[in-house]
Amino acid sequence: MLENKRVLITGVASNRSIAWGIASAMRREGAELALTYQGEKLKSRAEQLAEEVDAQIVLPCDVADDASIDELFSSLRQHWDALDVIVHSIGFAPRDHLEGGMIDHINRAGYASAHDISAYSFIALAKAGRSMMAGRNGSLLTMTYLGAERVLPNYNVMGLAKASLEAAVRYLASDLGPEGTRVNGISAGPIKTLAAAGISGFRGMLTKAGQVAPLRRNVTTDEVGNVAAFLCSDLASSITGEIIYADAGYHILGMYED
Ligand code: NAD
Repeated sequence: MLENKRVLITGVASNRSIAWGIASAMRREGAELALTYQGEKLKSRAEQLAEEVDAQIVLPCDVADDASIDELFSSLRQHWDALDVIVHSIGFAPRDHLEGGMIDHINRAGYASAHDISAYSFIALAKAGRSMMAGRNGSLLTMTYLGAERVLPNYNVMGLAKASLEAAVRYLASDLGPEGTRVNGISAGPIKTLAAAGISGFRGMLTKAGQVAPLRRNVTTDEVGNVAAFLCSDLASSITGEIIYADAGYHILGMYED
């Protein structure tokens, strides 16, 4: 599905990362990959994982820093003259914001950093990659969660940031559509990853979602990777501005019986 596509994937922190499921599926479908890692601490792990998916390009990028984003794209240009896909699989909120009621734990700094790193960074990558992607029927993809639309325990400021991210999907789709670039998001069900471990009570959410979702199980990173591969392929050439659920059907429930 992705032969001859050059794909930049952010957010591979471990082999449990959703971005790792995406990288594996996209490689299987024939894409040529470049991976980024957040900082020195993650470098060697990113390089090891890159080998497994035959990614020749592994570059640092801290999305909180514009200079780091600029450096990423100038380094990428030394390898590739054009780019077909950017996968944004990055989220962050201060840990003390991801517990209890939102109003009790939120403050201006936490609100700002959650929105900066979890939502603005998608726009920042879209801006930085725009000229390399224009006119190639390429696509931008981000990862979101049901907490953007519904209230979920302890998700708090991340829900607000994901709502902003989902709105960004629509505005970017409108802006970049005339240049041939599609923009979509995947709303994944809960998956045990490093980022998810920061949400208080996450294990309970995972168990409950697996018990009551229509498919009576949780989703895997491989399944999310398959949806990502489809959305970024030419098979999805008419889909833009969408949030697609990969959550074993959980989002359709209004209430469930214990
Ligand atoms: P993860 O911890 O494996 O990945 C999070 C990534 O964000 C890491 O690679 C980390 O390095 C990166 N990151 C954080 N701050 C960064 C910064 N300043 N610069 C660059 N990178 C930065 O966890 P994950 O669950 O795979 O998360 C990936 C995405 O999926 C996030 O947007 C998350 O909100 C979303 N998501 C996760 C779940 C879930 O249950 N795990 C469900 C739906 C959506």
